[in-house]
Amino acid sequence: MKTIGLIGGMSWESTVTYYQVINTVVKQKLGGFCSAKCLLYSVNFEEIEKCQTNGEWQKSGEILHDAALALKKGGADFVVLCTNTMHKVADVITKDLDLPFLHIAQTTADRLKKHKITKTALFGTKFTMQQDFYKQVLVDNGIEVIIPDEDDVNVINDVIYNELCLGEIKQSSKQKFLQIVDKMKARGAQSVILGCTEIGLLINQQDTDVKLFDTAIIHAEQAALFALED
Ligand code: GLU
Repeated sequence: MKTIGLIGGMSWESTVTYYQVINTVVKQKLGGFCSAKCLLYSVNFEEIEKCQTNGEWQKSGEILHDAALALKKGGADFVVLCTNTMHKVADVITKDLDLPFLHIAQTTADRLKKHKITKTALFGTKFTMQQDFYKQVLVDNGIEVIIPDEDDVNVINDVIYNELCLGEIKQSSKQKFLQIVDKMKARGAQSVILGCTEIGLLINQQDTDVKLFDTAIIHAEQAALFALED
C-alpha cells in the first residue's frame, strides 16, 4: 500500500471527511483491521485565507509547497491537496516535487465522464466558480460548465467562508443552496459539482434529485484507490 500525503486544514472541517472516506475505502477493499497509511500536514488556514484575501497567491503556493516537501520527506508516495480553491496554485505546489499529485478537478472530471455528464453546474468559492483554473480542466474533458448568477455566487461564497469553514451548519443556508441547485437544473445542468470540500457538510444527495458530485468524497475515494493500485 502506498503512503498518502494529505495537505489539509483548508478547512480542517473538511479534512475530517478525507480521513474518514480514505479509511472507509481501504477497510472495504482489504477488510480486517486494514486502514490507510497516510501522513497529514494540516496548515493554519488563517494564514492561507489571508493570502487569498490579499491576492498573495504565490506566497500561499510556497507555504503549501513546503508542506508537500515535508510530506515527501516523511515518506509520502503521492500528494493530495484537500481543497479545490488552492489548486489555483497547483503548479507552485508541485514544482520539482517529483511525486504524483492527484488533481481534484481532473479526478472530478473523470467521475463526471463515467456518469456521461456533458453539462454541469459548479459550486465553490468565488475563485473556483469565477476563475478559469478549475473550470478549464472540466472543459478540456468535454464538459460544459455553468455557474450561478452573481447574487448566488456571493451567497455560496459567503456561506463557505462565514459558516462552513468555521464549522457552522445552518438550516437556512441549506435551503438557499438547494434553491440554487434547482435554478441550475432549470438552466439545463445535469449535475452540480460541490466544488468546495465543505459543501458536503451542508447538502448531500438525500436532499435533492439533482445529481451531486461531492469533490471531497470523490477525491478521497480516488486517493484510497490509488494507494491500493499496483
Ligand atoms: N475548502 C474549500 C475548497 O474546497 C475552500 C477553502 C479554501 O479556500 O481553501 O475550495
